[in-house]
Amino acid sequence: MKTYWQNYIDGTWVDGGAGRIDVINPGTGEKLAEHALADAADVDRAVKAAQRVHQSGVLSDLRPVERGRMVQAMGRYLLDHIDEIAQVLTLEQGKPLWESHVEITGAARYFEYYGNQAETVEGRSIPLGKDYFDFTTYEPFGVSAQIIPWNYPIEMTARSLSAALATGNTCVIKTPELTPLSNAWFAHAAEAVGLPDGAVNILCGLGQEAGAALSSHPQVNQIVFTGSVATGVAIATAAAQNVVPCVLELGGKSAAIVHDDADLEAFETDVRWGIFFNAGQVCSAMSRVIVHESVHDELVERMVSVAKSLTVGPGVDHPEFGPNMGAMVSEVQRDRAARMITEAVAEGAHVAAGGRKMNQPGAFLEPTILTNVTADMAVANDEVFGPVLSVLTFSTDAQAIEIANGTPYGLVGGVFTSDLNRATTAARQLRAGQVFVNEWYAGGVETPFGGYGKSGYGREKGREALWNYVQTKNVAIKLKG
Ligand code: NAD
Repeated sequence: MKTYWQNYIDGTWVDGGAGRIDVINPGTGEKLAEHALADAADVDRAVKAAQRVHQSGVLSDLRPVERGRMVQAMGRYLLDHIDEIAQVLTLEQGKPLWESHVEITGAARYFEYYGNQAETVEGRSIPLGKDYFDFTTYEPFGVSAQIIPWNYPIEMTARSLSAALATGNTCVIKTPELTPLSNAWFAHAAEAVGLPDGAVNILCGLGQEAGAALSSHPQVNQIVFTGSVATGVAIATAAAQNVVPCVLELGGKSAAIVHDDADLEAFETDVRWGIFFNAGQVCSAMSRVIVHESVHDELVERMVSVAKSLTVGPGVDHPEFGPNMGAMVSEVQRDRAARMITEAVAEGAHVAAGGRKMNQPGAFLEPTILTNVTADMAVANDEVFGPVLSVLTFSTDAQAIEIANGTPYGLVGGVFTSDLNRATTAARQLRAGQVFVNEWYAGGVETPFGGYGKSGYGREKGREALWNYVQTKNVAIKLKG
């Protein structure tokens, strides 16, 4: 594997004005490679390149089907190179190789979906009587700045890049410091499908430096941010100063409500995917289970057996889907999660499974189930962003909803029951952007995703997301009588 990776600005691979950053393999704790670090001047060149391409009209003037075909081809490029991308993604991020394949396949799906949508962004004609002809069009904002987190670096970039390009924007992507390497394939894909130099720029830099420079750049026309609440507030503030719109996809503390009439055996699969996929580093992770007291013991027994069935080790050792979990992204993140477990225990939580750092090099944490958690504990309110599930109990439906809605977040929520009325009532009452009934993560690229409350605003995925990347223009024509 290459030991030094550069940024991609205006169609050229370049060093960074801020030097280099070490990329660590969290599966071993050892250095993997170095990546160029962009400074504010690099960001400025990338934004200016993107602006030049936008203003030239080379993308926005195309017939949408032509743009759509290029976007779709980018997805196919990712699939054609899935093995090499997956290897790098696993080495830099820690997830098992098979999970990297899932992520890259998901990323390709965004390009397929939004490539298809490119020619569906239609305006309308508004009747103003016989003397006028009026119509609306949707135009791209121009330069879309996209700031990416480390948990799904490929999928998160794909999510915004595909929709932005499909609607005719040009892009500057700020990759995460911890996992910048795999994003290089978006540059290769852009070149392979014939996008002009400067249409897609990809650079790694520190959040405080390159990230802040990008989000406050006066020539950026729209911002998409996925990451933590604190950074989201900083970015929204910067966007407000320049009066540009932004989409914020922030964290979550999402809850599954499990009723006494739920299929408890089927719920084991929800636990497997909901909290242990990507070692729980998923914004929409099922980090709380609120279970009816009458089925608490049986459900805990089932969840503990899921946690204990998983082997934990370096992601490169797991090319095939199976009962395994990889490293967390870094020892810092792992130690933070372990500290939150210790604090929860001090507050009265009980470790029913896992709970400890693994005694081996790398950022490993045991799959963990905490019981005796109450709604006032920090672990029931703060995002752990690790393989740590908190179990709370309820006795009435109203109480379950109150606990589920009791955090400042509102990304997703779930209800597990065989009673349709109960499910639809809960779906209405849960304050979350997505509600899953009887399957955690039900939905797909087609279904809108985004938060209530501190989980952010705007929607990614689905047709809703297209409107993040376009602005409405109304054209009113006075006709000669
Ligand atoms: P983070 O906010 O620390 O970093 C995210 C990105 O923002 C990184 O690229 C970082 O360099 C950049 N950044 C940091 N400070 C900045 C600043 N002042 N200005 C501009 N950019 C800056 O988040 P993280 O730790 O990388 O990711 C974990 C968080 O992301 C979790 O809270 C998780 O829930 C959230 N997340 C949300 C979604 C979603 O779709 N809702 C998806 C993935 C992750």
